[in-house]
Amino acid sequence: MRSHALTRGGALAAFAIGTLTYGAGTLGSALILLAFFLSSMALTRAGRKRKRELVDIGKAGPRDAWQVLANGVVATVCLTAWVFLDHGRALSAWFVAFAGAYAAATADTWGTEIGTLAPAPPRSIVSGKALVTGLSGGVSGPGTAAEVAGAVLIAILTPGALLLALPGIPVTVHALAGFILPVFAGGFGGALVDSLLGASLQVRRWCPACERECEVDTHGCGTPTVRRRGIPWLGNDAVNFAATSSGAAIAAGVWTLLR
Ligand SMILES: [Zn+2]
Repeated sequence: MRSHALTRGGALAAFAIGTLTYGAGTLGSALILLAFFLSSMALTRAGRKRKRELVDIGKAGPRDAWQVLANGVVATVCLTAWVFLDHGRALSAWFVAFAGAYAAATADTWGTEIGTLAPAPPRSIVSGKALVTGLSGGVSGPGTAAEVAGAVLIAILTPGALLLALPGIPVTVHALAGFILPVFAGGFGGALVDSLLGASLQVRRWCPACERECEVDTHGCGTPTVRRRGIPWLGNDAVNFAATSSGAAIAAGVWTLLR
């Protein structure tokens, strides 16, 4: 596995997202982005030897532009909408949606990276059958616990992020605390959508040379793969986009209901 975390295109996409995020919400929104980005990088490096399975399936290696955008574009659009549509008000569903999208990305990434290290094989969230470690749609106890922890991290950072983005805003502790549950729900709900799509509609491919399932067009061994099931264009990036969109929508919806 190469040691670079991002490809050139991935680095460019990350730079664009980082600039827009800092520009829109200064240190506050940057805090949420960094919590996602740095924790994901650290967990990706954890237990690298045991993650050969991920390499084999096609999920490892430096993140490219599409991967970065699939995780960050929904949050960035919500944050931009917060600035332009809600004029950066403290109590805004757009800010909650921004945090919810990163809560989903964080929960899903933590779940994948920790779930891969679990000794027992994951089970399909839909059929309950044992799956090859690392394949999308598999769930395990440690992976699910990591999803919860990732969603909790972003949720508890959200009130602080808002205070940093808008220093001196007159909002109550009660209002700030009201962000935590919606963002957690968005994070866990988004990761759940990721698993459900991964186990059902996401494309799964087969390498005839290695005789095993994977998620890439050309397997790591160099052999072209054939589609076994799923929608051809619904790969990991599209599923991550759906998961972060769901995270944003769930967080904003729950926040609006509980207000
Ligand atoms: Zn192969």
